[in-house]
Amino acid sequence: MEENRLYEIVTPLLYWYQANARVLPWRSDPTPYHVWISEIMLQQTRVEAVISYYERFLSCLPDVASLAAVDDDLLMKLWEGLGYYSRARNLKKAANVVTAHYDGVLPSSVGELLSLPGIGPYTAGAIASIAYNLPEPAVDGNVIRVLTRLLADSTPTSDPALVRSLSAQLRPLYPPEQCRAFTQALMEIGAVVCIPNGAPHCDRCPVAFACRAFANGNPASYPVKAAKKPRKIVPRTVLLLRCGDRLAIRRREEKGLLHGLWELPAMEGYASEDAVGSYLASLGISAASVVPFVEAKHVFTHLEWHMHSFEIAISTPSDRFVWASPAELRTLYALPSAFRAFLE
Ligand code: SF4
Repeated sequence: MEENRLYEIVTPLLYWYQANARVLPWRSDPTPYHVWISEIMLQQTRVEAVISYYERFLSCLPDVASLAAVDDDLLMKLWEGLGYYSRARNLKKAANVVTAHYDGVLPSSVGELLSLPGIGPYTAGAIASIAYNLPEPAVDGNVIRVLTRLLADSTPTSDPALVRSLSAQLRPLYPPEQCRAFTQALMEIGAVVCIPNGAPHCDRCPVAFACRAFANGNPASYPVKAAKKPRKIVPRTVLLLRCGDRLAIRRREEKGLLHGLWELPAMEGYASEDAVGSYLASLGISAASVVPFVEAKHVFTHLEWHMHSFEIAISTPSDRFVWASPAELRTLYALPSAFRAFLE
């Protein structure tokens, strides 16, 4: 029975974790708030990249109350570069619910956690088990990879039955008093031993003795993923409008991709120098010079922006845009990393 075989991994995994756990800032003081913020940041983002964001975020917003009250522009600035900005917006929304209904402390039950904006089954399980030490599985991509290899389970990752089945098999394994360590041990082994890209380190895996994929010599066959659709390519022309040392920025619409964030002005498609001149004239802007600038590409989940750009000198700032100084771009306005190549 699968369940019995997974029982064998619990003790070796816990010993291994005790000896090998990486020192990470959110592990030293796993309060519900700390676990919540770190888990939301870690979605789609590497641990190494998250550490500095996490520390900066907590130094500005140390608790639920400060997050609930934060100014939106500061929140976006703290999130700048992490991507998937709706995560930050949902954090603030959820902090307001926690302030209003839970006296500023995240609830411990998975059902109540799931009712908060931006918290799905994985994050709810992570908060319940890591912060509250409850026997609640948290099945993310790392854990799916480890378990499908251990079990040689070829259910596709796109099938919701997979997470349900893995969660059901994990739940009875949780050792009382060590729920926190067990969840983190599963995540950790997926992050550093049974790794996502490249061959897993089966030679130093503490649960290799129980691994069916290892025995069969085919760990790379798991997890089974559906073929991805190719991303849509979207050509754009980015305009770096400079007036002295100030740069023109504008806010994106309140819906759609990167909604509500600041951006460099842009035109759809690859525009010629003449087309850029006509566009600026239509805005009542006369340019002293229009010079081709760098090209860049930014990959989103479902599409790619392929960007050409022009650097444009303006003598009189137009009120069509906000004219940001270098200091304001550093400290006040959050521009998505899609524009990083132009600002560097
Ligand atoms: Fe992953 Fe290899 Fe360990 Fe199996 S033996 S869980 S494939 S690292």
